[in-house]
Amino acid sequence: MNKPIKYYSTNLKSPAVNFRQALLNGLAPDGGLYMPSSVPHISRQRIHDYRGLEYHEIAYDILMHFIGDEIEGSKLKSLCRDAYDFEVPLEKLEDNKYIMRLDRGPTASFKDFAARMMARLMNHYASAEGLRLTILTATSGDTGSAVASAFRGSENIDVVILYPRDEVSAIQRKQMTTLSGNIHVIALDGKFDHCQDLVKKAFTDPSLSHISLSSANSINIGRLIPQSIYYFYAWSGLCENGYDKVCFSVPSGNFGNLMGGLIAREMGLPVRRFIISTNSNDEVPRFMQTGIYEPVSPSIDCISSAMNVGHPSNLARIIALYEGIMDEKGCLQKQPRMDRLKSDLSAVSISEEETRNTIAGCHKNYGVLLEPHGAVAWKGMDKYLENADQENHDRDLFIALETAHPAKFPEELIRTIGIAPALPESLASIENLPEYCVEMKNEYDVLKEFILELKK
Ligand SMILES: *Cc1c(COP(=O)(O)O)cnc(C)c1O
Repeated sequence: MNKPIKYYSTNLKSPAVNFRQALLNGLAPDGGLYMPSSVPHISRQRIHDYRGLEYHEIAYDILMHFIGDEIEGSKLKSLCRDAYDFEVPLEKLEDNKYIMRLDRGPTASFKDFAARMMARLMNHYASAEGLRLTILTATSGDTGSAVASAFRGSENIDVVILYPRDEVSAIQRKQMTTLSGNIHVIALDGKFDHCQDLVKKAFTDPSLSHISLSSANSINIGRLIPQSIYYFYAWSGLCENGYDKVCFSVPSGNFGNLMGGLIAREMGLPVRRFIISTNSNDEVPRFMQTGIYEPVSPSIDCISSAMNVGHPSNLARIIALYEGIMDEKGCLQKQPRMDRLKSDLSAVSISEEETRNTIAGCHKNYGVLLEPHGAVAWKGMDKYLENADQENHDRDLFIALETAHPAKFPEELIRTIGIAPALPESLASIENLPEYCVEMKNEYDVLKEFILELKK
């Protein structure tokens, strides 16, 4: 086994820790994000050989490099098999241009890939060590449902989810409220930011310090690393056609998905470029152009709602990877290597009109259904190809990521192409289940009492 990897904080003021500690801490004590101190290298031949493997087998091979002997091999293998029991389709639209569908998990969003693995890893440590954990998380929709589904039935872990009462769709709400058991859902009389404020307060409240609170949002390293696996899967599934390298178009909000891809490339995946596709929240495309970082505040409401982020929480990690430092407020303490950043990444902002036209165009030209997030990715790839020099394009592979199931956006699809896609089985089955949910005022003391009561 290789030397064990340590995880350091992007703020550089907390000690480096092992995988278990980074997973359970979530955020480093100095407020920074954990990053692996070194990235394991996987040889080109080995990556090529992944093509004969199932998704969960590739997952095991990659994760064991990061976790080392902290979890027994046979145990990790079974966690992977259990987490990844759904298909990951690669659909060809044109010669060397594909869509990878990351929307076939139980909550029909790509967040299942990360949440399901993180839940199993946390559950492993909780039961091995007799820990009682409480996951406390605020959600504007997709994260809450993926986390709730992933942790459902965990014996040693309670999950408390706060969502803004009037700001999630009926499907998203039902995905959280129909689970019950160890999943406790709170509809807050407030906005997403209020949910997040209450959660932050709970994490720093000394009168809750006897309860092991963990976070499950996208900053957790246990969510990040699983998001590098599908990049390997895509390449190994298609590389036998003799491509030189691959370009991925990643529809980005908090940049966790992209960060997973960057880790995959560090590990040796032959990626020519990542195309960062954002909606009108264009702080990163502007930063790439000007070198000046200005969050979009308040964030702009777009139909690709999971990407309405004005200041991405994973940006500090990307900056760290390119030798810069960004603090939690988004201030650049040290400018990253912009030359390298620009040669590895292209960023493009896609308008609402372009998003809708792409949904319509892909349906008409290829008979393919995309939802708004995937449409942003496809259009971003298109624009990149229009502007970039032609040289490598015939020999490279291009893959746009579709991150949600089109059936989650019926109004938008009816509006653009007149079709309401059928709900996948996992979503159709919750339609008529009873809902369990507590309504709560936007007051911290009420939340605190709720948590204390739960842990009696
Ligand atoms: C969360 C989410 C995104 C954005 O992913 P990030 O990792 O935050 O960049 C894109 N599409 C969908 C459907 C999502 O749920």
